[in-house]
Amino acid sequence: MAKRDPYEVLGVGKNANDKDIKQAYYRLAKEHHPDKNPDKREESTEKFKEIQEAYDVLKDPNRRARYDQFGWDGLEGTGFNQGAGFGFGSFEDIVEEIFGGGSIFDDFFGTRTRRRSGPRPGSDLRKDIEITLEEAVKGKEMSIEVPTLRVCHTCQGSGSKDGSTPQTCLQCGGRGQVQQQSGFFITSRTCPICKGEGVVITDPCESCNGDGRIPHTSKLSINIPPGASNGLVLRYPGAGEAGIKGGNPGDLHIVIHVAEHPIFERQGDDLICKVNVAFTQAALGAAIEVPIIGGKAKLNIPSGTQNGKVFSMKDRGVPHLRGRGSGDQYVKVNVDIPTKLSSKEENLIRELAKLRDEKVASPEKGFLNKVKDALS
Ligand SMILES: [Zn+2]
Ligand SMILES: [Zn+2]
Repeated sequence: MAKRDPYEVLGVGKNANDKDIKQAYYRLAKEHHPDKNPDKREESTEKFKEIQEAYDVLKDPNRRARYDQFGWDGLEGTGFNQGAGFGFGSFEDIVEEIFGGGSIFDDFFGTRTRRRSGPRPGSDLRKDIEITLEEAVKGKEMSIEVPTLRVCHTCQGSGSKDGSTPQTCLQCGGRGQVQQQSGFFITSRTCPICKGEGVVITDPCESCNGDGRIPHTSKLSINIPPGASNGLVLRYPGAGEAGIKGGNPGDLHIVIHVAEHPIFERQGDDLICKVNVAFTQAALGAAIEVPIIGGKAKLNIPSGTQNGKVFSMKDRGVPHLRGRGSGDQYVKVNVDIPTKLSSKEENLIRELAKLRDEKVASPEKGFLNKVKDALS
């Protein structure tokens, strides 16, 4: 069977750049690597071999140029390994080859690079805290509890019972990887005995079962600064999970959520609220009472205030988190038109309408008049 075109195998165009080729290779390798397809190992091994070979040609500018000019024949006698005694690494090795084993990619692709023995940093922790708008304005000191892992005091984090030292793993000879022969091909995978550590704890610490860390609830007092906003992250270096085998502890990230307020809407450091004003007050002007954070304040509205008019109250907003001063408070006026009038009130307003020569609807007839009309 004729060999397939490497561009076709990777599904890239003739002009594909290095990045396109890497990406295509990664995607296909992830899908077809024999480690990922244990139930159809032989089939995926063949497929993977083709993918690997196509990548080996296209990743090397010299080989790629020769292939472009002469096809597969151009690569004969160049030392390019065409199939014989072909071996390849674990999928983790591929990730490492492409990305340099970067951990961002582990998270992104849900893969895990090879673990190494020796110190490793502890995980960062995240804790979400909800506060009220009042607390966001004034700031808040509080103590919190964070479930985490601390170093086991019994074994000082080694995981081994007092005095015993971990033994080199016999299965993999300390490499953390084991190789597997399948036909011509050799694949390597994470050692199942030591889980890639290269060493095994033969006599585990009884307090932590060999993990070196134990679950622990740490208490911490935190200081939420005035002006805290939704999504603010407070970092507490070293307050995350303990490291492994003497590795540095992770950090604690506290994410602040400011609850919705029944009265105030927050826009940046400004606060916005609505107040109802009687139409007489709007017409004649008044000193009205408006809510502020933690109390009430007087606001003078002038005569002739229109519905929807916005008044600003300087520095009555949220303190600026960084820097001095505060935002402002904005008060939006809703002129309240009465829906029920006594006959005296109605007469007064009709009088006013007459004075101003404004046409208004006739007074609603009473029940008795309606009956009379119906009968006549
Ligand atoms: Zn222990
Ligand atoms: Zn091992």
